[in-house]
Amino acid sequence: MAEVRMRNLAKTYPGGSTPATDDVSLDVEDGEFMVLLGPSGCGKTTLLRMVAGLELPDEGQVVIGSRDVTYLPPRDRNLSMVFQSYAVFPHKKVRANIAFGLRMRGVDKAQVARKVDWAAELLQLAPFLDRFPSQLSGGQRQRVAVARAIVMDADVLLMDEPLSNLDALLRLSFRAELKRLVGEIGTTTLYVTHDQVEALSLGDRVAVMRDGRIMQCDNPISVYDVPTSEFVGGFLGSPPMNFLSGTLAGTNGVTQVELGSDQSLPAPQRLAEFRGRPVRIGVRAEAIGVSREPGDGAARCVVEVFEPLGASVLITATLAGQLIKVQAPASFRAEPGDELWLDLKQDSLRWYDPDSGVALIAA
Ligand code: ATP
Repeated sequence: MAEVRMRNLAKTYPGGSTPATDDVSLDVEDGEFMVLLGPSGCGKTTLLRMVAGLELPDEGQVVIGSRDVTYLPPRDRNLSMVFQSYAVFPHKKVRANIAFGLRMRGVDKAQVARKVDWAAELLQLAPFLDRFPSQLSGGQRQRVAVARAIVMDADVLLMDEPLSNLDALLRLSFRAELKRLVGEIGTTTLYVTHDQVEALSLGDRVAVMRDGRIMQCDNPISVYDVPTSEFVGGFLGSPPMNFLSGTLAGTNGVTQVELGSDQSLPAPQRLAEFRGRPVRIGVRAEAIGVSREPGDGAARCVVEVFEPLGASVLITATLAGQLIKVQAPASFRAEPGDELWLDLKQDSLRWYDPDSGVALIAA
């Protein structure tokens, strides 16, 4: 096992007008599960491929353990890879598929058999070892690809959207299996996905990327709860974080934010220095309290859309002329036109600069 250090990695493809990755530095610790998350085209795969040795950076360095591997071919990096397409050999049985890399390496037969049995056990493939891939489901085939990768005892496991060819239900169960598996084998893992739920579920840390750069890298709870930019808050979550526009105001010891239509909310005193300036307030739909009665400091809103979602209900409402989504308990009922009162709790509000989209204060 080993840590992976990416240093100032820059890459622009021939003919590309903007960099695919732009001065990216990221450390993945020994045994850590790091997820690269971001919208299509943000540079996740390019970064992974530079670690794999499948792309060369224009600038920067990749260090695995104590070795600078930037210009080493993939086979000399001691990595295992799993890709979106199952990439199993159709004419080989499951056992031979899993054993393939070890055989190529000249590992002796008894040890190959031991490792194959170990991986098959971990991935619940034991009953299928003598089948051909065509006799397996998509999920089982992808498990074969994962088994083939983990038997190699690589320093680092690289996975690029390994679950995206699976249907929704299978994805859910395989996600949990993968988490258990990687936890058990403890290999340093770099995992690419554009699925935020997958990223939050699997990662020890999640690096959220945009336009070839890392916007935020932190544990899943923090990137979700304390996004350092509007982009991250808006990318994570379903529904995404709400953003309301307002103006910071106040006198003496009281700071507040005016939302228009005579509505205002208390704001933290730490924002006093920004009084007179516009601000964007971020708040998660499930962090908002909702009531039919006006409570102390509650903000009035009018329901636009009511959506029962099974485990909860989603209310889209207008607050001071701005749309806001509120997640309420499944038993809550409302109809378009109803007046409701929202409790926007201070400690769940995040404050952003409207121009840069960056947090004004640390939460
Ligand atoms: P996705 O989730 O869609 O796979 P990604 O975040 O993995 O996207 P990359 O595949 O790394 O993004 O692509 C980053 C940028 O580099 C994109 O603008 C893409 O069009 C460009 N790009 C990727 N591969 C090549 C290539 N072989 N030649 C030219 N441009 C490329």
